[in-house]
Amino acid sequence: MEKLKRILSQIDGRGYKAYKELQGKTFRFPRYSLCFQYIQGDPFAPPSQVALSIPLKSAGFREELFSNKIRRIALEDFLARSVDKAIEKANGKRRGSGKSGLIAIDVPKQEVIERTCMRIFQDRIEARLFIGLPARGRRIAGDEAMEMFFEDLPEIAESSLFIEVLSKSDIWRHVCVVEDQNALRSQLEERGLVAFIANGSLLPRRSGVDQRPLKKDEAVLFESPPSMEVELNAPNAGKIRGMGIPRGITLIVGGGFHGKSTLLSAIERSVYDHIPDDGREYVVTLRSAVKIRAEDGRRVECVDIPPFISNLPFGKDTLRFRTDNASGSTSQAANIIEAIEAGAKLLLLDEDTSATNFMIRDARMQRLVAANREPITPFIDRARQLFEILGVSTVLVMGGSGDYFDIADRVVLMDHYRPQDVTSKAREIAGELPSQRVPAESELPKLSNARIPLPESFNPMIGKKVTVRSRGKDRIQFGRTTIDLTYVEQIAEESQTRAIGGLLLYAVRNGIIDGKRSVHEIVKALEERIDAEGLEVASPFARPSADYARPRPEEICAAINRLRTLVVR
Ligand code: ADP
Ligand code: MG
Repeated sequence: MEKLKRILSQIDGRGYKAYKELQGKTFRFPRYSLCFQYIQGDPFAPPSQVALSIPLKSAGFREELFSNKIRRIALEDFLARSVDKAIEKANGKRRGSGKSGLIAIDVPKQEVIERTCMRIFQDRIEARLFIGLPARGRRIAGDEAMEMFFEDLPEIAESSLFIEVLSKSDIWRHVCVVEDQNALRSQLEERGLVAFIANGSLLPRRSGVDQRPLKKDEAVLFESPPSMEVELNAPNAGKIRGMGIPRGITLIVGGGFHGKSTLLSAIERSVYDHIPDDGREYVVTLRSAVKIRAEDGRRVECVDIPPFISNLPFGKDTLRFRTDNASGSTSQAANIIEAIEAGAKLLLLDEDTSATNFMIRDARMQRLVAANREPITPFIDRARQLFEILGVSTVLVMGGSGDYFDIADRVVLMDHYRPQDVTSKAREIAGELPSQRVPAESELPKLSNARIPLPESFNPMIGKKVTVRSRGKDRIQFGRTTIDLTYVEQIAEESQTRAIGGLLLYAVRNGIIDGKRSVHEIVKALEERIDAEGLEVASPFARPSADYARPRPEEICAAINRLRTLVVR
């Protein structure tokens, strides 16, 4: 402590670079140690990074709060939010403009996802924060730095990271809710389900860009139709009843604005755990569920799309199909094949974001345009085969075509946000009013599973400089090329996008992309490294990155598949 004071008073008023003296140094404070992991080069550069390290014993958390991986991640998540709240309070008092005087943590959103800003190790808690080292002009403001390190940071740490200042019941609830979601999710398979939505869930969000729940008095709470109600066991909350969506093909129908897409979005996001009071904290979906949509303009590299598209005009091949500018239907076909390659056991589709000609083709159109002139085999003709041959289920929002009654196992009608099981009625109608369309007779073409990316297709350099960074949630700059993830809808936050960038760079640098591993195997190897060494393993610099959240393997695959320079063999 005294040493840090001395350094700060020595460098006060000197050029900003003199802060570099702190780089890598650790100082002991009464209740924690403070390590300067990275020192910024000037006041306008990205901020510096410090780690607060607290011995677990003195933080006082009982072992049962982090006794397994799920609980540990939940507690880490709780503490990251707790630090953020404390920062907000402290910042209220601060003057600081620009980055000078900034204190920040990579605060989580509605989901609980493993992240690098907060880690619980064997013997200590480590919180990694961003700090804007204070300057006046380009000179060091030593007195303000003194305030930051000897007033603000101690206050933040002491009001957010020690059990005696926290609500034990809030922590316990946070951990329990996350643990329950994992338990519910793990029961899906044995119960023959692909998703579960608890009664009383609140599904609608405030807006398309605000994932917080709609206010309670504005929302209709979810209530399962009796015929689809199941009961699962949550270790902490006890028995929970709700709607079970079985394996197979489930249609969600209903009039416009009756809540179909809202239900599907909740299912799509519930591959992740949610915080208490999110409204979706007892909604769970198979981990490997992938939202499928049309994505015109995307790049496709050597994907076998004959299951959906063949006989393109001018004899263009659809085995190992390649394009720099996919159409709505070819992009949607590629998205499905890639999702299955990545291991998806559940596909989620919404008519709002699907290509019409990919989804349906009715009897009249079949009669007018002969099958041998129509390259597209619509999804309706493949969905059952995907399930019966590959075990891949589908949940599909479709308000516009009753042809799907013929292939659905279940039909759920959303009526004023209330689901009804209309399966038998839909069957009756299908019997009375046959669609008269002719189902495709062809078998499901075999899918090859070995697209092997060539290492040369990944170049993270611009000139002599490694340049890999996220640009918002939807874009990764990778060397000279950009990976566009705008339509990869299950990325929950930018910290995941950043981590995907870091992981791709790590894969390049460590020979994981070796010209022998397939896309799937590359991602599997990355997962193994993360599991063994933590997500920090992908940090591009000598310090652990402080703003990564763990992406799903499906989204890492999605990023590789969208790399415009990708070449596979
Ligand atoms: P659809 O896909 O059937 O056209 P949406 O799911 O887009 O309908 O929902 C239409 C509107 O209703 C949205 O603004 C959504 O936020 C709102 N909404 C959806 N579900 C509920 C609910 N359970 N309670 C209140 N509002 C809801
Ligand atoms: Mg909709």
